[in-house]
Amino acid sequence: RGVKKYFPIRSGLLNRVVGQVKAVDDVTLSIRKGETFGLVGESGCGKSTLGRVVLNLHKATEGEVNFNGTDVQKLSGQELRRLRKQMQIIFQDPFGSLNPRFLVKDIIGEPLRLHERMTEREIDSRVVELMELVGLDATRRNRYPQEFSGGQRQRIGIARAIALNPEFIVADEAVSALDVSVQSQVINLLMKLQRELGLTFLFIAHGLNVVRHISDRVGVMYLGKIVEVAPTEELFAKPLHPYTAALLSAIPRPDPTRKRERIVLQGDVPSPANPPSGCRFHPRCPAAQAKCSMEEPQLRELADGRQVACHFPLDASLIG
Ligand code: SF4
Ligand code: MG
Repeated sequence: RGVKKYFPIRSGLLNRVVGQVKAVDDVTLSIRKGETFGLVGESGCGKSTLGRVVLNLHKATEGEVNFNGTDVQKLSGQELRRLRKQMQIIFQDPFGSLNPRFLVKDIIGEPLRLHERMTEREIDSRVVELMELVGLDATRRNRYPQEFSGGQRQRIGIARAIALNPEFIVADEAVSALDVSVQSQVINLLMKLQRELGLTFLFIAHGLNVVRHISDRVGVMYLGKIVEVAPTEELFAKPLHPYTAALLSAIPRPDPTRKRERIVLQGDVPSPANPPSGCRFHPRCPAAQAKCSMEEPQLRELADGRQVACHFPLDASLIG
C-alpha cells in the first residue's frame, strides 16, 4: 500500500546525493491467495524492484507490504527467517543464478540445510522428490548445473524455490531468457505446481504475451506506477489505458483478418530520476490532451474489478 522505492543518485568526489531514481513511486495493489498476478512493463519500469520490495529483499522508502496480515517491512530476526520460508523468488537468469561449483543436489538442498533440521539422508530424498516434481531426472542430482540445458536449469531454480513449501513466489522474468517453446513448458510447469501446491504467484515479465496464459489478473507498470489492472482476458479484449493498448498492439495476431493496428510509441522511456509532469506517459501518448501534462491521473477503481490511471481511458463508458 503506497509503496515507494527511491534509490539515491550519487556523484562527484564527495559522493553526494544529487538526485533520486524513483523506481517504484506510490504503488498500491493486492494479490489474492492462489492467484497469479502478472506484472508487465518495459525494462526499467520498476517491476523487479517492486517484486523485491514485496519479498523484503529491498526496504521500501515508504509504504507497507502486507503478507497474511503482517507488515513484512517490520520483521527481523526469527520472524523474518520464518517469512523467508513462505516467500521465495525465481530469477530470470538460469545461468547466472545457479552456482556453477555446486552440485545440483546441493543447490536444491541449500534452503533445506539453512532452514530445516534434516539429516543428509532426508535432504537427499527431498531433493529427489523435488526434482521429480519439476520434471527433472533425479539420477542426475550429482551433476553440475552447466550440464543442464537452459530450461532444465530453470527447473532447478524452481525446485529450489519450492523446497521449503512456500505460499508465495515471485517469478522475476523467470522465462524471459528461454526459447519460446521452452518458455511454454516452464509456464505449464508453474501452473501445475500452483494447482498441486496451492501457490500464489507474482509473475513479472516485460511482454504481455508471456503473462497471458498463466495470469488471472494483469497489472501494467509504466515509470514506477501501475497504470492499469484487469482480469487477463478483459485486459486483452479491451485495454483501457493507451499504454496497455500500445503494448498489446505489438503482439502479432494469428488471425490476419482481425488485425490490430500497430501503435508505435514515440521516443524512449523517460528517466525515472526525472519523470514527466502530470501523466508520466504524456510525452509518448497518442491520446494525450492538455490536461495530461498538468494533472497526474490517479489509479481509479472501476465497477468490474478493473483499475486504470488515465484522464481519457479508451472506453469512457466504463468510467462511472
Ligand atoms: Fe494518455 Fe492522458 Fe491518459 Fe496519460 S492521462 S495515458 S497522457 S490520455
Ligand atoms: Mg527486471
